[in-house]
Amino acid sequence: MQYAQKVAVVTGAGSGIGRGLAGKAGSLGMKVVACDIDRNGLKATEEDLKQQGVDVLSVQTDVTDYNSVANAADAAYARFGRVNLLFNNAGVLVSGISWERSLEDWRWNLDVNVMGVIHGIKAFVPRMVAGGEEGIVVNTASVGGLTAGPFMGPYTTSKFAVVGLTETLHAEFVVLGLKLRAACLCPGEVSTRIFRSERIRPEKFGVRAESSRQEDVKMHEYLANFVEGKGITPAELAERVFAALDAGKFWIFPHPDFKKAFTERYEAMMKDEAVRARLPRQVTKS
Ligand code: NAD
Repeated sequence: MQYAQKVAVVTGAGSGIGRGLAGKAGSLGMKVVACDIDRNGLKATEEDLKQQGVDVLSVQTDVTDYNSVANAADAAYARFGRVNLLFNNAGVLVSGISWERSLEDWRWNLDVNVMGVIHGIKAFVPRMVAGGEEGIVVNTASVGGLTAGPFMGPYTTSKFAVVGLTETLHAEFVVLGLKLRAACLCPGEVSTRIFRSERIRPEKFGVRAESSRQEDVKMHEYLANFVEGKGITPAELAERVFAALDAGKFWIFPHPDFKKAFTERYEAMMKDEAVRARLPRQVTKS
């Protein structure tokens, strides 16, 4: 795709990966529609983009609310008249022991990560189809959408759903002979605050209850620090994403070392076995 003058929409653009994707799209001459629930984060992204000379429209958007996403689509089409790259990227992370997490924990994680992507598809794709231009819908899943371990139930469930939905969407675009394609972004560690999602948890989803055990709490803290300290930067992630898009890839694996874990899972499946249950890295030792 030739990016210059085309339009990219990014949800979750107020922080982390979304901000990185918005910056990269802007640097390629794209006009950017930045969407996020977090007004301050969104403002900071908008200022960054403006400083780069990017034509940016920011729309405060709650992806859990269809009307809010439809409003962002209306605003995008009113201002720019087209959308060519749709990044359904907004996400939150709830970890913990599955049966201990409240229904609000589950609903929040599924509403943002799954319904948010569905709302993006419903609000934008019909107009992208009608526009008749080339376009790509990039849904942010995770390596956690292809591998499962303990203490990440709500997040893992949401990301497995995004993987299935994105494969379905792509198949529909192909079978219907449309000029659109989908791509499934499955990052490993990127240095963002995804493990600190509680910072932006809306009141209607209640307050996170304490865990009754320490194993899951320890794992969360370990991974939060690991991701923030050792993850690649969002700017580097965005470079890898656009390189994969340029290469026409469906699966975007910015951390190819995780492919070993995918293979392990499929090998276990072929033997009708559960994949080996383990905590990530040495987290239980301390
Ligand atoms: P982040 O917390 O820095 O950014 C997430 C953004 O989503 C925030 O700006 C937040 O305000 C926004 N958001 C949350 N709820 C929203 C809502 N209801 N409506 C609109 N926006 C909302 O984290 P990130 O790592 O940049 O996360 C981006 C995506 O990448 C998520 O889907 C996440 O699951 C995925 N991901 C991250 C990693 C990682 O290591 N950072 C790895 C794999 C996948």
